[in-house]
Amino acid sequence: MAHSHSVLSFQSFTTQTLSADEIQLIESSVAQFGAPLLMLDCDSIRRQYHALNDALPNVTLHFALKPLPHPVVVRTLLEEGANFDLATSGEVELAAQEGVPAERTIHTHPIKRDADIRDALAYGCRVFVVDNLNELAKFKPYRDEVELLVRLSFRNAEAFADLSKKFGCSPEQALTIIETAQAWNIHIKGLSFHVGSQTIHPQKYVDAIRTCKEVMEQVVERGLPALSTLDIGGGFPVTYTRQVMPIEQFCVPINEALNELPETVQVLAEPGRFIVAQAMMSVASVMGQAEREGQMWYYLDDGIYGSFSGLMFDDAQYPLVTLKQDDELFPSVLAGPTCDSIDVIAEDIMLPRLENGDLVVGCMMGAYTSATATDFNFFKRAQTIVFNEHMVNSERLIG
Ligand SMILES: *Cc1c(COP(=O)(O)O)cnc(C)c1O
Repeated sequence: MAHSHSVLSFQSFTTQTLSADEIQLIESSVAQFGAPLLMLDCDSIRRQYHALNDALPNVTLHFALKPLPHPVVVRTLLEEGANFDLATSGEVELAAQEGVPAERTIHTHPIKRDADIRDALAYGCRVFVVDNLNELAKFKPYRDEVELLVRLSFRNAEAFADLSKKFGCSPEQALTIIETAQAWNIHIKGLSFHVGSQTIHPQKYVDAIRTCKEVMEQVVERGLPALSTLDIGGGFPVTYTRQVMPIEQFCVPINEALNELPETVQVLAEPGRFIVAQAMMSVASVMGQAEREGQMWYYLDDGIYGSFSGLMFDDAQYPLVTLKQDDELFPSVLAGPTCDSIDVIAEDIMLPRLENGDLVVGCMMGAYTSATATDFNFFKRAQTIVFNEHMVNSERLIG
């Protein structure tokens, strides 16, 4: 309990502190399981799911498995009443294995193989996404079983991942797809979009919703069957080292835009990052150290090829904390364990003098971290240990 910790002075760093309870839990977990670890808090997942659900009262939330496809996450959200967004046969398998009723799922990958469609249909998932005529044609054999969403593209240079560069079509192309589907007797249920992961400004959603409303009106003007569904995708932001708007405030203009849609339109969202980012902390230990060009280099047992893969794939800047506390700080580098020179987590940061075995904690490590980790150089991925899976202990581990 006497343990304290120091916060790293990152460039644009927000204060991140660990409670005495958290520190004790981290130390006892490493004593029991060894390092590196990922500590997953199911209470955080429940809390984030309900926060978004409350902020979007008329929207059905489908958790996108992609950022953290862990069975415990699926189980926890299933119990809370969530729906799910699947994109691959592996994700279909995970949902099926955890007993997710297929009616509570949609399949949102815009580009699929016939086998992917068949796997999802065999499970019972009926809703799929298309953004071009080539993809639409793949559904001719399944026209009696499927309902499709047409994905529109809205570019977003500010997001961590601009998901409208690779996927989505223009409003005119959407109308062509909808007309063609009518001719081919394939049911188009509605429209979808993804404004980009970690979207900072809600106006991106507002603009996209307004454009979709116009497309829906044009569908009716052309004498096509009215669309019943709008899927506003994922992208809801969380605070890493840069503070973002609280979610209630973020969703106010989105709800206003949604209120302009006809009442018959059912609205869905596909949040990923927002639900899970806060739920994991990473814990790595110092394997060795050297002084190089006036800086202390600490080599950790987790790095860019492991839990910190998001530094490469996701643009995230994770708040880092050392458990050791000292007033005297030195210019330091945190590096990963592999023999590759790009395997560096943070440079030019001020740290206390660390010993081998000292622990470094990464916060906000739930989304796009272990999901994209590799075993490069045969360094094993961090083991994930789960807390608060059953709500016997309502104490919150990660605040
Ligand atoms: C990745 C992805 C999501 C989740 O996005 P977040 O930014 O993590 O909320 C949702 N839908 C689709 C189709 C995706 O590819």
